[in-house]
Amino acid sequence: GCSGEGVAAALRAAAEVIAEHRTELVELDRAIGDADHGENLSRGFTAIVSALETAVPETPAGVAKLAATTLISKVGGAAGPLYGTAFLRASAKLGTAAEIDVPLLLDALRAALEGVQARGKAVGGDATMVDALLPAISAAESAADGTIADVLTAAADGADRGAESTVDLVPRKGRASYLGERAVGHMDPGARSTALLLRAFAEAAR
Ligand code: ADP
Ligand code: MG
Ligand code: MG
Repeated sequence: GCSGEGVAAALRAAAEVIAEHRTELVELDRAIGDADHGENLSRGFTAIVSALETAVPETPAGVAKLAATTLISKVGGAAGPLYGTAFLRASAKLGTAAEIDVPLLLDALRAALEGVQARGKAVGGDATMVDALLPAISAAESAADGTIADVLTAAADGADRGAESTVDLVPRKGRASYLGERAVGHMDPGARSTALLLRAFAEAAR
């Protein structure tokens, strides 16, 4: 199982990966948006790491909620509230559990997706982070007889494929939708960051 400290370690790993890929995410967003996605996320995850230095909540839900409130308060634009809602819904699903096991992880991932869709109204094929989350969750469900690391690795693999799929899509939500057909040929930055986050979580679970 994965405790509150385990979730905190995964978030610290995510912050490192996002910092390493900050420029890549900025460049993806420059092509079809306003070139701030890497800044937005690295600011948000740096703030999460700082908040965790003060105190690490005991439960996985407490840590996820801290991540949610930090992202919502520190990150402007579309992605902050969307990722914030994802962590908030995951936190609600985790409830009072002391540890995350595979079934609870799958429930939390599904809740995160539902939160993103409730907030942003994107469906599959709109070229957003939803296109990374949908195949991530299908792949995670298929790996449900494995360990937490196996499930997260499958999710990250699914998210990589989903992010790749956004290259050929016409964006229908967010800033990239203003470009319409001209955005075809570019990967959605939020789909890419979702894949990076899931990969970081998978590595942290190893
Ligand atoms: P902004 O577009 O406000 O500058 P960011 O650049 O941080 O915010 O985030 C852009 C990303 O947010 C997009 O690449 C996309 O994945 C995601 N996004 C935008 N709008 C939506 C939406 N309605 N539903 C899901 N994801 C969205
Ligand atoms: Mg942007
Ligand atoms: Mg912006």
